[in-house]
This record gives sequence, C-alpha cells and structure tokens, in this order.
Amino acid sequence: MANVILLGPPGAGKGTQAKRLEQARGMVQLSTGDMLRAARGSDTEIGRMVAEVLDRGALVTDEIVIGLIEAKLDETGHGGFIFDGFPRTLRQADALGGLLARKGLALDAVIELVVDDAALVGRIVKRADEARAAGLPVRRDDTPEVFEARLREYYKSTAPLVGYYWAKGDLVQIDGMAGMQSVAEAIAAVLDKR
Ligand code: AMP
Repeated sequence: MANVILLGPPGAGKGTQAKRLEQARGMVQLSTGDMLRAARGSDTEIGRMVAEVLDRGALVTDEIVIGLIEAKLDETGHGGFIFDGFPRTLRQADALGGLLARKGLALDAVIELVVDDAALVGRIVKRADEARAAGLPVRRDDTPEVFEARLREYYKSTAPLVGYYWAKGDLVQIDGMAGMQSVAEAIAAVLDKR
C-alpha cells in the first residue's frame, strides 16, 4: 500500500484528509500532533515540556518526534502510512527517509495542500468553535495568537520541505482551497496513479 506525506500549514486540512484516507483505503494515519497531545497528559517531565511547547506553537525537538514515529513504524509492520504533521524539519525528513529505507518501504508521494494564508486562521477558529459546540476538547493552540506562531514556524522550518521533496521528484501540489470532497478526490487520483 502507498505511503504518503501530507504537507501544508496548520489548518490546511491534513488531519481531515488523513482520516478520510483511513476510512476509504484502510491506510494508517501517523499524526505526531495527536501523539504529542496524548503525551502532554502524562504527569512526567516530558509531558510537561511537551505541553509548554505545544501551547506556544513552537516545535518539539526532532529527537522526540523521530522517536515517536520510529516506534509506530516498528509496531505497525505493513505500509500504507499517511504521515500527517511529520516531517516538519529537514532533519526529520532525512530521518524518515532512513527509517523507511530500513523497513524496505517506499515513499510514494508528498502531497502539499496549498491554501491561502488568509484562509487559515479562519479555519482554525472554526475548528475550535465546532469542537466547543460539540462538547469536545478544544485544542489550546487553536487561537489566533498561537496560530500566528505556528504559521511562522511553518514558514521557517517546514516550508523548505516543499523544495526538498520537489527536488526528489516526490512533490504533488493540490489546491487545498477546494472543498473537502474535491480535495479528497484529488488525493485519491494521485494515489491511484502511483
Ligand atoms: P499538529 O496537530 O500537526 O498541528 O501539531 C500540533 C503541535 O504539535 C505543533 O504545533 C507542534 O508544537 C507539535 N508537533 C507536531 N508534529 C511535530 C513535528 N513533526 N515536529 C515538531 N513538533 C511537532
């Protein structure tokens, strides 16, 4: 089964599309954000440190997230992974290449969801409002203030991955401003071609 990275700024729709791929294709979403949110609950030094970093909209260290992904890959033998929110730095991208090679897995595509910056903060605020209305936990970093820091971090650390994967011939850009269904169809078309 295909292994893909979903790349894009916060609010681009990576998580939403990853969940759809899980349902439609039985792929496995590996979201470092979800893993870190689970870890922040633990009453340990690491848990407290992760909570502090997430609430600032900064990035946790490469070592921590690479370790989380390595453990998940080891625990799930087969492929069919959707990397959601990982890699976020060039170092993480290099590490992922090494981990996949060691497991004999290929990276089939890096799908960038391209969304106008101006639309992103609105999407984040909407996500928080919807969670609140549904009585679900609201992400503490889904506020306009922390979003600013997350977007800045995206441009500084993660956007260089667009060029990195483009140079490898792995990058496919998709219009993330289209509706959820259209984006899902565009991703499906990419996967069917690989
Ligand atoms: P996300 O759910 O992908 O938006 O991630 C939420 C937060 O988790 C980010 O703002 C970072 O603080 C942290 N995080 C998630 N993935 C990574 C990663 N690959 N590297 C470093 N920090 C991460």
